[in-house]
Amino acid sequence: MKKVPDKTRVKRVPQRGIYNKEDIYKILDKEFVCHIGFIHNDIPVVIPTLYGRKDNDLYIHGSMASRMMKTLNEGVEISVAVTRVNGLILARSGFHHSANYESVVIFGKATLIEGKAENIAALKAVSDHIITGRWEEARGPSDKELKATMVLKLPIEEASAKVRTGGPKDDKADYDLDIWAGVIPFTRTIETPIPDEVLRDGIPVPNSVKNYGQEPSTKK
Ligand SMILES: Cc1cc2nc3c(=O)[nH]c(=O)nc-3n(C[C@H](O)[C@H](O)[C@H](O)COP(=O)(O)OP(=O)(O)OC[C@H]3O[C@@H](n4cnc5c(N)ncnc54)[C@H](O)[C@@H]3O)c2cc1C
Repeated sequence: MKKVPDKTRVKRVPQRGIYNKEDIYKILDKEFVCHIGFIHNDIPVVIPTLYGRKDNDLYIHGSMASRMMKTLNEGVEISVAVTRVNGLILARSGFHHSANYESVVIFGKATLIEGKAENIAALKAVSDHIITGRWEEARGPSDKELKATMVLKLPIEEASAKVRTGGPKDDKADYDLDIWAGVIPFTRTIETPIPDEVLRDGIPVPNSVKNYGQEPSTKK
């Protein structure tokens, strides 16, 4: 097996570390919000934002005026975290309370997507990642909108996942206590879509919306 570099090797509870690309992709594909950490003016900043994964790249987009986008475009080292919480672990002791989760951490430097066609393809990748088929239904980006939008790409190279599953793990002596222990599992519920209050009459619900929640690609 390939040696995991120290930077990305999970040290705390190392048996929860996963480095296989396919498993990392699976977690990234269940979510669409990441938190990006970077240094700005000597201060560590963490900013939540949308992302899309295509092949071995994570695409991030934002306003040309965004501090985050401008800083990332300087080629600084960044760290990206994606988190999915699957349940609360209620142990007998407060100490062993925890959560079931799947998370990914990626390090690296983002690079600017250049060229009109390349930018459109990258924006489509973000859109497709979040809601399949919506790109084709919506009006495409104008030149002015493209000029106002920066798209960056981060290779999924220096990456790790960490996954906790199962029930509480208590101290041996605590199993005799009369204290309830177990898991509160979480699922994400997708509610019925609400049409815009100024939507023109006679516009049917499109497939991307109808299918959201039905397809395996849905983020739930
Ligand atoms: C929803 C959630 C809740 C958590 N709650 C707590 C908590 O309350 N207290 C706590 O101490 N820890 C918690 N963790 C675990 C936490 O993310 C860290 O793994 C842990 O704190 C060890 O941090 P460290 O810097 O010592 O990691 P180290 O093991 O030293 O990290 C080394 C490298 O391993 C990788 N790595 C570490 N953690 C993760 C991760 N979560 N996902 C992917 N790669 C990772 C990174 O590449 C990192 O640079 C939680 C995780 C999640 C997802």
